[in-house]
Amino acid sequence: VHVRIDPNKCQGHTLCAIAAPSVFHLREDDGHAFVSDAEVSPDLESAVLDGAETCPERAIEVTP
Ligand code: SF4
Repeated sequence: VHVRIDPNKCQGHTLCAIAAPSVFHLREDDGHAFVSDAEVSPDLESAVLDGAETCPERAIEVTP
């Protein structure tokens, strides 16, 4: 799957990084989330979806 974080929506709640630390990382300067690789391997798909669901800002878009 493909994952994208909308930088305008992300408020740095960190929940995505707690749900899926192997996918979502937090910037040291502002605490906002980023992904090191927008293409996520199938074995991490459920973790990505968990992370997207926990985001209160709905900032994480997951597309096939
Ligand atoms: S859970 Fe949402 S708002 Fe919080 S850091 Fe992750 S993407 Fe940003």
